[in-house]
Amino acid sequence: MQRETILVIGANGQIGTALLPELQVQFGVNQVIAADLRKPSSETGLFEVLDATKPDALTDIVRRYRVTQIYHLAAILSAKGESDPLWAWNLNMQTALNVLEVSRLHNIRKLFIPSSIAAFGEHAPKYETPQTAILDPATVYGISKVAAENWSLYYHKRYGLDVRSVRYPGVISHQSMPGGGTTDYAVAIFHEAVQGRSFECFLEKDTRLPMIYMDDALRATLELMDAPESQISVRTSYNLAGMSFTPAELTESIQAYFPNFVTQYKPDFRQAIAESWPKTIDDSVARQDWGWKAAFDLPRLTHEMITHLTAVYQ
Ligand code: NAD
Repeated sequence: MQRETILVIGANGQIGTALLPELQVQFGVNQVIAADLRKPSSETGLFEVLDATKPDALTDIVRRYRVTQIYHLAAILSAKGESDPLWAWNLNMQTALNVLEVSRLHNIRKLFIPSSIAAFGEHAPKYETPQTAILDPATVYGISKVAAENWSLYYHKRYGLDVRSVRYPGVISHQSMPGGGTTDYAVAIFHEAVQGRSFECFLEKDTRLPMIYMDDALRATLELMDAPESQISVRTSYNLAGMSFTPAELTESIQAYFPNFVTQYKPDFRQAIAESWPKTIDDSVARQDWGWKAAFDLPRLTHEMITHLTAVYQ
């Protein structure tokens, strides 16, 4: 079997921080190269400073390490992107196109470019949003995700590139803070709760959104990347479901551990973004194609987050 060398771009982010150790276990510490704009505070393994908008710098790393697989996680997320739409568009598209093109030119065996529930907009069904619903996103982030999905399909059809993707729901993790998305509240709330503080939520209490615990998000990513090529029927991006809840339901779940915990609601511009997104996701195509099944529901997520973060703040 060919030895794999994995490049993770945007490795210091919320998903990269958690994905890196998993890949190091699977492929070996010296077979995984983490890359990001800046060095992380603590390095565990190989690291390269990389601005993925620069194709030459990316090519240099791919050549030097003889990279065989790329996980492209660098992006400007939904809420942050709205502060400067053209900057977000340029960064998200330049990096995605560079990664696709460098992968084609350097015979990358497998490429992962995640999409998001933000690819959906006003006219997609809000409940059990199907795989093939109309994509009319409300944010520049969502527009860039739809474009990257279509470019991925194009590179697969035209050049045979083995590019794979999931539309992540809001990812909830204890390893690091999220990077400026509309579902960030569902991480921040746990940090306040375990420190005995109340929480000010930027969404209305009844705003239901699809979410996923990091362990499930990582398992989905690795299972998709491990699946035989013949089982992959979707080359834009697979719908992926974990759980769906509202801020009020999450608060109630936390109150089982901290009865005095309270959330105040002060919705801001992120409310409109959240309202444009699905409330629940139909991921039956991922289930059929490569056997996806989420393991974490809201009570289990709450238990994990409180256990891990209590240890951090002790
Ligand atoms: P994040 O914002 O936490 O991390 C992104 C990382 O990319 C950061 O470390 C940043 O420094 C790096 N980066 C930015 N510009 C770069 C550049 N030009 N070159 C190299 N690195 C650069 O994001 P995340 O939450 O880890 O998300 C990873 C991927 O998953 C993204 O594509 C995101 O759109 C997608 N996604 C995430 C979520 C979520 O809830 N976290 C949900 C849906 C989709």
